[in-house]
Amino acid sequence: MYDVIIIGSGAAGFSAAIYTGRAKLKTLILEKGVIGGNTAQTDLIDNYPGFPFGVNGVDLMEDFRKQAERFGTEIEMDEVASIEEVAEGKKIITSSGKEYLTRAIIIAVGAKRRELGVLGEDEFIGRGVSYCATCDGAFFGNAKVAVIGGGDSAVKEALYLADIADKVYLVHRREGFRANQTAIDKMKVTNNIELKLNKVVSSIKGDSLMESLVLKDVNTGQEEDLSVEGVFVSIGLVPATEFLAGFLETVDGYIPTNENMETAVPGVYAAGDIRVKTARQVATAVGDGVVAGMAVTEYLKE
Ligand SMILES: Cc1cc2nc3c(=O)[nH]c(=O)nc-3n(C[C@H](O)[C@H](O)[C@H](O)COP(=O)(O)OP(=O)(O)OC[C@H]3O[C@@H](n4cnc5c(N)ncnc54)[C@H](O)[C@@H]3O)c2cc1C
Repeated sequence: MYDVIIIGSGAAGFSAAIYTGRAKLKTLILEKGVIGGNTAQTDLIDNYPGFPFGVNGVDLMEDFRKQAERFGTEIEMDEVASIEEVAEGKKIITSSGKEYLTRAIIIAVGAKRRELGVLGEDEFIGRGVSYCATCDGAFFGNAKVAVIGGGDSAVKEALYLADIADKVYLVHRREGFRANQTAIDKMKVTNNIELKLNKVVSSIKGDSLMESLVLKDVNTGQEEDLSVEGVFVSIGLVPATEFLAGFLETVDGYIPTNENMETAVPGVYAAGDIRVKTARQVATAVGDGVVAGMAVTEYLKE
């Protein structure tokens, strides 16, 4: 029987574990993929406070892991498949068929950036292809870049990049945007943003770095080459919370919480990118994890 099981070993999960471990709670992290989550798959984190010259994502998360383990956190590589309430507490069942009992749970499973799924995308990740302007925009000062998408986050990304890059193309597969009107109005009067409407990306080309996008007109089928040094894919995130079906309600796959990271189920907390929230960054995931760790400690004392 564990006091706390944390699902996900990203910035939120490890931050929560550091707090529950220091509070002497028997803590287990279950991780289905890469230790360190999305942060550990990012080359340079340039905006996490305390690192004036940036920090490698793998190195940062390795330190998170060591710190959590120093306070007794155990880690098991397994995927959580479902959760049930039982008389003794909560039962977690994994894809490999193992069962774990725990008094409390922190869900910190993050969300994956939705990919375009075109030729060249995987090849040029970190070499022109990015999924986060706040994270990587600063590398494209005075460059030509493109943003792909038509929602709120794509328009925001374009406006953010317009202050950094020389030229920003906003590529959208439709005519209209699903974004806040004030942001759309601002985008339309920003001189260095050019709209490429009714276009989809059919491939990404380059050599050692990306050099251009091949755009296809959805009406005529005509293709054009667009020279850009960077492309920011902003077509949404994919939360993976199917395993919560029948246990906890989600909103578009995301988990609503209060400011203590409590969900609608007593003893179950959520932290990091998987929460209903606006800023999905390493620093905010850390903040959520800390709050969840402290709240769980209080809950178990009671
Ligand atoms: C390409 C990219 C670049 C980024 N760059 C920056 C940056 O420069 N600065 C910045 O602040 N932010 C950046 N971000 C955002 C940042 O990575 C996230 O905000 C942060 O990782 C959120 O942490 P998390 O702990 O909530 O989730 P994650 O890091 O996503 O970790 C969640 C973990 O849960 C695991 N998991 C999921 N489902 C299960 C399951 N059922 N069972 C067991 N384990 C499970 C996953 O495998 C994963 O390891 C970037 C994101 C991406 C994708």
